Amino acid sequence: MYDLLIQNTHVLHVSHGSEIRVLRDHDIAIQANRISAVEPVGTIQPSDARQIIQADGKLAMPGLINTHSHVPMVIFRGLAEDVSLEKWFNEYMWPLESNLQEEDVYWGMLLGLAEMIEAGVTSVADHYFYMDQAARAVQEAGTRAALGWVVFGNQGQAMLDRTTQFIERWQGAAGGRITAWLAPHAPYTCDDDFLSASAQRARDLGVGIHIHVAETAAQTQASLEKRGITPIRVLEETGVLERPTILAHAIGATPSDIQLLAERPAGVAHAPKTYLKLAMGSAPVVAFREAGVPVGLATDGAVSNNTLDIWESMRLMAMTQKQAQASPEMMTIAQVLHIATRSSARVVGLADQIGAVEPGYLADLILVDMGGAHVQPLHSITASLIYATRASDVQTVIVDGKVIMRDRKLLTLNKEEIIQQVSQAMRRLARRVPSQRIQVYNP
Ligand SMILES: [Zn+2]
Repeated sequence: MYDLLIQNTHVLHVSHGSEIRVLRDHDIAIQANRISAVEPVGTIQPSDARQIIQADGKLAMPGLINTHSHVPMVIFRGLAEDVSLEKWFNEYMWPLESNLQEEDVYWGMLLGLAEMIEAGVTSVADHYFYMDQAARAVQEAGTRAALGWVVFGNQGQAMLDRTTQFIERWQGAAGGRITAWLAPHAPYTCDDDFLSASAQRARDLGVGIHIHVAETAAQTQASLEKRGITPIRVLEETGVLERPTILAHAIGATPSDIQLLAERPAGVAHAPKTYLKLAMGSAPVVAFREAGVPVGLATDGAVSNNTLDIWESMRLMAMTQKQAQASPEMMTIAQVLHIATRSSARVVGLADQIGAVEPGYLADLILVDMGGAHVQPLHSITASLIYATRASDVQTVIVDGKVIMRDRKLLTLNKEEIIQQVSQAMRRLARRVPSQRIQVYNP
């Protein structure tokens, strides 16, 4: 007996080797939280299922994965525009974050999760403050998350201990949907002793580390001038790279950094909309892939990206990489879809668990309406997914075998209440006192 049967769907299949196929007219059977069968229509008996969803020719694909965000920052959406990266941090973001109260993280996380569920994003690697509130929100929303409580080096050992307790409280919680990571902010905000202590702590706890690194070529240059090694080499020397690591951005990775990362359990989170908006440069995605370093799609926070829309990240990555390589033949549809699915799963530590609609995988999948005028006729479903599909085409979202959005209706969250709660705090959140900062950007 199956718990859920999705009937009459096309299924996106991406192989480990980046080959893509669309299996037309299939049924998908789910038992508990895993996919148990993907078979041509008519093979699985409907009487063997407790619940049936008629997909009517929609496309089933793995739920999208956001490999680096600060989801609760949606509460500051639109407050830092048309400014340099230095001003973005020092005059906007870090003063604004001094307004942050614990409850804001809860409601902000819920708002961001609602936005992501509506866009078919079923997993997120999040990096923020007051993460118990974020974990509570994930538990309620029914999504999957890799959560890290951000620490700056100057907060010291006591804060590292506090985030350790967070990990002990939440590792494997929500029926295994939550994994917990250590999250030192970046090599330029954490000194070597603090990074070494974090790496040691990650070894003791058996967890990974989620960190910003080499966010621009200028940061790499500054590190080389100040101390003769790159920021990624700093992570190597402090032991961080021995752990499974999510490296946010790594735009400034040098060729030797890339070779090093290929030998470490590290993955790179790639957030092209933020890079374009803040003119941060182009990440060496093609070189990472050629070296075997997994790359995953990301949005970063909504103050630099404005949305948490992974479709947009997918499309912008494809186009910016073609542009950077001066070749429309680079970054093919198959490669982009591999990055969006299996490779992103690997970056968040869930390789061969999520990122494929195949028997044995966790049942995190979405049904995408392909009936819109903007995608018809369907000469190439896969090209449409990258270059034409809109987040609002996602109709139904399933995580861990549970339907959490059906026909665009959120089933776990009350969106109106969430928006009302966040709106109430708008004036307090937008207050900005430049002398009041949680940190200073000076790489
Ligand atoms: Zn970030």
